Amino acid sequence: MGSPIATVQLHRSHAGPIAAGHPWVFAQAVARIVGTPQPGDEVRVVDPTDKVLGRGFWSPDSAIVVRLLTRDADQPLDAELFVRRIRDAVALRALIGLPSRETTGYRLIHAEGDSVPGLIVDVYGDVLVVQLLTIGIVLRKAQIVAALVSALAPRAIVVGGSAGSGRKPEGDAVEGELLHGEAVDALRFLERGLRFELATGSTQKTGYYFDQREHRAEVERIASGRDVLDACSYVGGFSLAAARGGARSVLALDSSLPALTLGEAIARHNDLSQIRFQRADVRDELERMASAGNKYELVIFDPPKFVPTIKHLEKGRRAYRKLNAHAIRMVAPGGVLVTCSCSAALTEVDFLRMLAFAASDARRELSIFRMGKQSPDHPLAPAFGEGSYLKTAFAIVR
Ligand code: SAH
Repeated sequence: MGSPIATVQLHRSHAGPIAAGHPWVFAQAVARIVGTPQPGDEVRVVDPTDKVLGRGFWSPDSAIVVRLLTRDADQPLDAELFVRRIRDAVALRALIGLPSRETTGYRLIHAEGDSVPGLIVDVYGDVLVVQLLTIGIVLRKAQIVAALVSALAPRAIVVGGSAGSGRKPEGDAVEGELLHGEAVDALRFLERGLRFELATGSTQKTGYYFDQREHRAEVERIASGRDVLDACSYVGGFSLAAARGGARSVLALDSSLPALTLGEAIARHNDLSQIRFQRADVRDELERMASAGNKYELVIFDPPKFVPTIKHLEKGRRAYRKLNAHAIRMVAPGGVLVTCSCSAALTEVDFLRMLAFAASDARRELSIFRMGKQSPDHPLAPAFGEGSYLKTAFAIVR
């Protein structure tokens, strides 16, 4: 740094999507580099006519060598930019009512959706958990922490896990590393008035999946009097909602023992004792239960990403189809299926087609009455289709 910033010129055939707003520059899009950028250095991205498309950080070891943080040719990627991005993100969350008295856990920075590719910030009450996903962001963690501290005055900022993000880690950020404040033993927050406490070290990603918040509220509205199956429950976000909504019984299944242990304690703290947490691998348990004739009036199925990249599309699609067919078989006639895919590479059209096949395999009919996406604290850049990853379908099963 200090020397003039390098310029990354794109091939004509690759400049179009980036000019139209897509923030990613793949390695094969690069025609020429003027200068010698080091990993994490700021670079200027230009088209074949030297028109500036934007600025980002150089990630030579990633398939995506630059992610643009600004389209403005004259905007340096400095501390002031992070301050402004965080201020904008706080304002957007205020607009959608976050935080509130009932909800103190939410996503504050959603990478590309908040024009800070490489950075995720989740808020857990007075603790922030960050994911630093590019070398450029890792190298600027001090600036980012300073901007977060001045905007939110958190008690602590820690580095979350990135396991499952499907991405090779860049830089030296270490899961659990304390970036600011005092050591944290647990993440404590409210979601719609439900009290969560997650011991650090037992969690996935940054700690909790905020993207299903609104779907949990919908589950709560329809759960009354039903026997509920929550397959791939994690700590039981959907189970707690169903139980508070008056479900007769709730069975939460997950393969992660730490998640189930946390879930049991959370259910107890919220006086929701009708939830049973059970360790199971859905890859064989759903078929076994369906074949045994188990029936539920509400089945929720929220599996991990079966299509991490487009290469896995066929295999992932088959896994979704097979497991959804078993989930559908378990829905009592006229009951409800809530089924999800967090695979960005599986489009909504593909997801619906997969569900049609699964229904046909199960010899049942689905009538979808709600199609949801990730909650609004996970905003979307319109040219960045990959940001629209979550699909949650609510269907009557006849
Ligand atoms: N429904 C949850 C989020 C689920 S994330 C919520 O509302 O918070 C996906 C979950 O699937 C994770 O908790 C993971 O532990 C679990 N999982 C992954 N593979 C699994 C398998 N083969 N069988 C059961 N659970 C699995």
